[in-house]
Amino acid sequence: MQFKTITGQRVLINRLTEIIDKGRVSHAQMFLGDMGYGTLALALAYAQYLSCENRQHYDNPSEHDGLRADSCGHCPNCQKYQQLVHPDLHLYFPTTTNSHIKKEPDCSKFINQFQNFLLDTNAYAYLNDWYLTSGAESKQGLYHEADIQELNRNFTLTTYEHGYKIYIFWYPELMSVKIANELLKSLEEPYDNTLMLFAAEDDSRILETIKSRLQIIRVGKILDANLSEEAEGNAIKQKLLEQGESDKALLGQMFVSWMRLLFKLNMESLSSWVDQATAMTREQQKHFLRYSMDQIDRSLRHTATAGAMQADLATGDERFDQMFPAMVTVNNASAINDAINDAIQAISLNCYSKVVLMNLSFKLSILIKNRNKKQ
Ligand SMILES: [Zn+2]
Repeated sequence: MQFKTITGQRVLINRLTEIIDKGRVSHAQMFLGDMGYGTLALALAYAQYLSCENRQHYDNPSEHDGLRADSCGHCPNCQKYQQLVHPDLHLYFPTTTNSHIKKEPDCSKFINQFQNFLLDTNAYAYLNDWYLTSGAESKQGLYHEADIQELNRNFTLTTYEHGYKIYIFWYPELMSVKIANELLKSLEEPYDNTLMLFAAEDDSRILETIKSRLQIIRVGKILDANLSEEAEGNAIKQKLLEQGESDKALLGQMFVSWMRLLFKLNMESLSSWVDQATAMTREQQKHFLRYSMDQIDRSLRHTATAGAMQADLATGDERFDQMFPAMVTVNNASAINDAINDAIQAISLNCYSKVVLMNLSFKLSILIKNRNKKQ
C-alpha cells in the first residue's frame, strides 16, 4: 500500500517518511486511533515504504498530493507488499470459528481471506466488517496461542529478502493477558531488522507492560481531505455515506422507470422490469416498495405546493416529468398506499414476488388512470 492511497493525514505521513529516511526506526510502534482515520492503512504503507528498494522523494510535495516521499509501487518488494504477500510481512488479527473452521482457529487458517479483505477495503475497516466477512457471525474473535507460537518461531528465522521482517497486529486489544505476556518476550529482546507494528483503537485495553515498550503514533481525525462534515474525519463513515447515496440513486432510477411503465402500460417492458425487481432479495424488494411509498407521498405534498417534478427524480423526459406529479392525486393516493402496503405484507409472507409485483403494477396503473375520478 502506498501512502498516496491513504485519505488525508499528510502531516503525519511526511513526519513518518522523514523518520524512516533518517534511519531512526524504532522496533515496536503502535498506530493508535479509530480505524476510520487510517490506523491500519498507515501501518501497511509504513511497512511498504520501509521495504521499498526505490523510495521516491519529491521536491515539490504540492505536485504529489502533499507527500514529500512515497514508496515506488513498482520494485519487487512493493509489488509483493501491495498484494500483501511479501514473505517478510506477517499479519496478525483476531479470529474465531466459522462454519468451515470449527475448532482451533488461528491467523494461518484465515490469512488468504484476511488479505483479500484488506485489499477489498483498502485496510479501512472495523472488526465487525471482518467478522461478517469471515463468517464469525456474532462470535467475538481473539488472538490464539498458535498465533504467538508461530510468531516466536518466525522471529528466529532469517529474512527472505534481506530487508526488514515486519509483524503487524490489528486490534491487539483482543490479546488475552497470557498471549500478551508471550508476545512480551519478543518485544523485550528484539532481533535485528525486525519491526512490530500495532494498529489499535483503545490503548486502555492493552497491557501496560506491552504499551510501555511501544512508541505511540497518534492517528487523529482526517482534516486535510475532502470528507463531508457528517463523516467527522472518518474515511469509513465517509464510504458508508457515499454508499447510501448511490443506493438512493439506484432506487430512484428504478422507481422512475416503474412509474413510466405504469403510465404507458407497456406490458413487455413491465414484465422485464418485474424480472429485474425480483432479482433483488425479498428485503431489498420491501425496501424498494417502502421507498416508492415515500416518493409517492412526497410527490403528493410537492404537487400541492409546486406542481412540478422533484429535481432529484427528474428524468429529462419532459412529458413524463410534467405528468408524474399529476399521477398521484387526493383521489388515488390512499388506495395506492394500501396496494403497496399489501404487496409488502405479501412479500413478507413469502408469496411469489413476481406475481405480487405484477399484480401491484396492474392495480397501480388502473389507479393512476383513474386519478381524476373520486373513489
Ligand atoms: Zn518500491
